[in-house]
Amino acid sequence: MEDNNVSPFIQSLPKVKIDNVKREERKESYSTFRRGEEEGGESSFPPSSFKSKVQQSTASSATSLRRSSTGSSRDDSTVSRRVRVAVRLRPRNAEEMVADADFADCVELQPELKRLKLRKNNWDSDTYEFDEVLTEFASQKRVYEGVAKPVVESVLEGYNGTVMAYGQTGTGKTYTLGRLGEEDAADRGIMLRAMEDILAEVSPENDLVSVSYLQVLSTMNVVAHAIDCSAICGYVCGISSFSKLVIVDLAGSERIDKSGSEGHTLEEAKSINLSLSALGKCINALAENSAHVPVRDSKLTRLLRDSFGGTARTSLVITIGPSPRHRGETSSTIMFGQRAMKVENMVKIKEEFDYKSLSRRLEIQLDKLIAEHERQKMHFRMKLKGWLWKHKKRISEVELSYADALEKEKLRCQTDYVESVKRLEEQWKEKQEKHGHGKVKLGQSDDGIDQKSNGVPPVLFAPGEVAEIKQKLQNEILLRKAADAEIDNLKSQLIHWKQTEAARNAELLKLRKMLEDEACQKAKLEEEIEMLQSQLLQISFEADESRRNLDRGMGGNTPSSMDSLMPEVKHQQLRDSGDGEKASVVKLFEQVGLHKILSLLESEDADVRIHAVKVVANLAAEESNQEKIVEAGGLTSLLTLLKSSNDEIVHRVAAGAIANLAMNETNQELIMSQGGISLLSLTAAKAQDPQTLRMVAGAIANLCGNDKLQAKLRAEGGVRALLGMVGCRHPDVLAQVARGIANFAKCESRASSQGTKSGRSVLIEDGALPWIVQNANNEASPIRRHIELALCHLAQHEINAKEMINGGALWELVRISRDCSREDIRTLALRILKSSPSFQAELKRLRVDYG
Ligand code: ADP
Ligand code: MG
Repeated sequence: MEDNNVSPFIQSLPKVKIDNVKREERKESYSTFRRGEEEGGESSFPPSSFKSKVQQSTASSATSLRRSSTGSSRDDSTVSRRVRVAVRLRPRNAEEMVADADFADCVELQPELKRLKLRKNNWDSDTYEFDEVLTEFASQKRVYEGVAKPVVESVLEGYNGTVMAYGQTGTGKTYTLGRLGEEDAADRGIMLRAMEDILAEVSPENDLVSVSYLQVLSTMNVVAHAIDCSAICGYVCGISSFSKLVIVDLAGSERIDKSGSEGHTLEEAKSINLSLSALGKCINALAENSAHVPVRDSKLTRLLRDSFGGTARTSLVITIGPSPRHRGETSSTIMFGQRAMKVENMVKIKEEFDYKSLSRRLEIQLDKLIAEHERQKMHFRMKLKGWLWKHKKRISEVELSYADALEKEKLRCQTDYVESVKRLEEQWKEKQEKHGHGKVKLGQSDDGIDQKSNGVPPVLFAPGEVAEIKQKLQNEILLRKAADAEIDNLKSQLIHWKQTEAARNAELLKLRKMLEDEACQKAKLEEEIEMLQSQLLQISFEADESRRNLDRGMGGNTPSSMDSLMPEVKHQQLRDSGDGEKASVVKLFEQVGLHKILSLLESEDADVRIHAVKVVANLAAEESNQEKIVEAGGLTSLLTLLKSSNDEIVHRVAAGAIANLAMNETNQELIMSQGGISLLSLTAAKAQDPQTLRMVAGAIANLCGNDKLQAKLRAEGGVRALLGMVGCRHPDVLAQVARGIANFAKCESRASSQGTKSGRSVLIEDGALPWIVQNANNEASPIRRHIELALCHLAQHEINAKEMINGGALWELVRISRDCSREDIRTLALRILKSSPSFQAELKRLRVDYG
């Protein structure tokens, strides 16, 4: 098994130095170990031949590494670490399944609490805590990560590391450490996984990895139990560190009588047991912080000196079985683990220096720095020369200009001086002429200049005057200096101003650009708004159109004389009374009875009256009720109410109810015969609210659709009342007026074609034409539509043609024939234009082609 454990992965590691000493050294190492044990002496470990092999491999490596003393004084690299102890439970094996079938396991694991309970008996148990509690289900990967990975990581950081397994034979030490996982890769044990991790991390250029496998004792097969102690040592060598990973599969921890060894084997077992008990003693000493740790008592403890209480980072995995028959062994294993948890190691980083290569690297670095330094020096010199030359040039320029300026200044001063002398002479002369005496010679003044020697006649000044003149000269000079300074100041201001102006111009340009952009954006937005407005118009037109269609009921193409106001009135009434009331109105009607409700219309109480009229109006909106209401005298009561009440709400609701009742021919005649027209006209005259006018106009419009009532309607002022309402410009009112006009014109036209009417249209006679023409193209489509129809009806009779041409109606007809959105009206208008001789003549005269 040991052979299989190592060879395959050795072959796959070309860069790794392997010393597989097991086969050759097994016997010798065993005997050496034994001798050592027996003699209790100081014989070295590992055995000499093994050592020479290791040394050989190390010496042959490209980088010769020297190991620094372990007693390094670098305290900052020293960390105190406790030995990490994990416990792993093996699952029941086949034998235990049978033999222990009736017994519970002797341990219970609580991995989440990292606790293990060891049963004492059925009702009592001891609890122990470990760093890691691995159940019988724990995977090999999980075991590796929990137990060995932290150690491998510190080995890669330069520390020494040890992973060892301790436990009774058959509990899974070898399974945990040495399993190769040839059949199932998931079974790979700690050794293999550790090597994989190390090889993945190291770099072939800088690191040297050496692997040694050492079996200290030969394997003794003693019944389904093998006693062995083997170690694998991986050396990870970096440029500056040399660290060692030791993985130790310890011998079984059971008492000898349990292993069943006899004779020679028994002797071996004894020595193994001795070394393990030596290890136990060391651990006890370390756990108790004892001054003396007997590491020299056995080979094993000497080998592991650095691992326990030494300088390595150490993980111990104790393996236990579940069987209650081995409770004693399990317990002692657990105690071993508990004691090991108390051992603290001082972990030190191993510093190894390859001074030769270090010095070579430093030399290279130094050379690089020297070259760089030289380069920079040259560069600096060149730069310095450049600067020097530039500044010399600048200095000579400045000197030149300075000399120039000095010369100019000198000249100016000289001229100034001559001039002021001249001025002073003149002043002096003037003064001399005035005073004539008491003068002193300027030539003898204290500046010692003899004026005579210059050939200038001696000038005489009063002593006070000389001082005064001197003072003036001084002032002059000061003033001039101030003026010069002022000029300089102004010049610098000019320069500054010019710069500012340039900046402002740039800013201005930027702003102009922004403005242009904004204007562009604005134009775009305006365009968009226009588009949206036209869309809105289109939509509202369509909405009007569909509302009109709804108003007329879906089927009809031309408005009938019974053109209904009903839906509108109904809505209005519902709005007045509230939707919830409708149901109660019906209830009221059923329970109280119509007569009773109608009688309430004449109630003394205004509130009652108003409610009653609303109820009646609601009822009148339903066609089925209309006959009953009229029969019960409701129409008369409503008309009376128009006359008697002063309340506009009553007027409005009553007029609405009358309008609804006026959809029926019999009722129309009744309304007329009961003086309805004059009552409605009067109501219209008094109305303030356009909605009242709308109801009145609606009622009259309905009456206008009755052929029989045409003459009476006009005679009683109905037509005038209708036309009078256009004064209110509310589109709802205008729509009803237009509907009335259209209804009226239709009846007239019908009468004319039946020969029952001759003469011009009453509408034209009553002066409706200008309003008709004016509103023929009203933007509210209900108004426009009715007027368009009215125009067509009027135009159908040649007798109206002249008036219509004079009133401008012809053009509206032309427009209707071209633009009207309703095809039937468009066709009607076109037919009329074509058939009317008067229109044809006029169109021909105006050269409008309507052939
Ligand atoms: P040890 O080395 O402690 O003597 P082994 O590793 O040889 O014990 O394991 C003994 C037997 O138990 C082997 O057949 C092994 O496959 C099995 N075994 C040990 N641990 C486990 C485990 N965790 N899961 C499954 N089988 C295990
Ligand atoms: Mg084993």
